[in-house]
Amino acid sequence: MGIIRPLDEHLANQIAAGEVVERPASVLKELIENAVDAGASRIDVSAEEGGLQLLRVADNGAGIQPDDMLTAFQRHATSKISTDKDLFQIATLGFRGEALPSIAAVAKVKCVSATDDSGLGSLLEIEAGTVTTNRETNAPKGTEMVVKEIFYNTPARLKYMKTIQTELGHLSDIVYRQALARPDIAFTFSHNGNVLLRTPGTGDLRQVVAAIYGTASAKAMIEVQDENPDYSLNGLTAMPTETRANRNALTVLVNGRYVRSQAVVQPLLQAYHTLLPLHRYPLAVLNLRMHPTLVDVNVHPAKLEVRFSKEVELRAFVEGAIKKAVGKTAYIPSGTAVR
Ligand code: ADP
Ligand code: MG
Repeated sequence: MGIIRPLDEHLANQIAAGEVVERPASVLKELIENAVDAGASRIDVSAEEGGLQLLRVADNGAGIQPDDMLTAFQRHATSKISTDKDLFQIATLGFRGEALPSIAAVAKVKCVSATDDSGLGSLLEIEAGTVTTNRETNAPKGTEMVVKEIFYNTPARLKYMKTIQTELGHLSDIVYRQALARPDIAFTFSHNGNVLLRTPGTGDLRQVVAAIYGTASAKAMIEVQDENPDYSLNGLTAMPTETRANRNALTVLVNGRYVRSQAVVQPLLQAYHTLLPLHRYPLAVLNLRMHPTLVDVNVHPAKLEVRFSKEVELRAFVEGAIKKAVGKTAYIPSGTAVR
């Protein structure tokens, strides 16, 4: 008899979790993405001890039907794509069907969800991949996910977690990017009971920038707005006087998804060219939209990297759009003598 056999589901999930769940912030990213995909207009996030003790994401989105509760936690189970064609034009943030089973393999998860306003919904609890509760419950429309004690059953991983402050930094980063990506969604974020962020959900990006980076920075930002037949770009970018010491305040969104992309950041910096002091970067939030067939998001398990099919054209477009925006401000560098 041969010795090769498929991994059992739990083991396969734990292996996948190694890729998907690097730290509490990766869990938070997946949970917020699910809430966004569910069409929520409110997303409340809370965390305890850097998310290592507890992460909670509650939304008022579409909810999960009782019959789907268990399936949602199965590997490669998704409501978001069903054919190969869908894979080449992804319109949702999620599509791999890997997040929930991976999270449930390395933490204690509680999910309460309802698809309507009847007041009735369902409750599922899973510990290290094993279902411990599955029943009806009272629930408002939407979904509440509570993830406790991440990595409690994988001590080797837990050992690598940094200080609470570092983990909190990563959590905040995730909430900020998602809030910037969706000014139309009202986000709250609290840590150990302290409210750290509240966005109004009015659709006004400047208000979200103000909530995160302060009113002064928000006021000093320039509107970016440009399009060609392939791409559209809109958002806010800083006056060249409002620079920062690192690139962290650059948020690039491609079809609503936060990504790290040199293909967008480099032409942005190029557009400022000599206006930026050495090793200084602008604060910017750029929303780039294109037909989903022009970008491959299925490159990276955490979906942070993407590939563009016409990168040269895209770079030229971004540089041109930023130049136009920054050029309009008739900027005079401070400290330059005006003759
Ligand atoms: P994916 O997002 O890639 O589909 P997930 O494992 O993150 O995979 O979620 C599995 C499924 O569970 C989703 O396709 C969706 O149908 C459902 N789901 C998860 N979270 C939510 C939520 N907050 N609201 C509604 N449905 C959800
Ligand atoms: Mg998902």
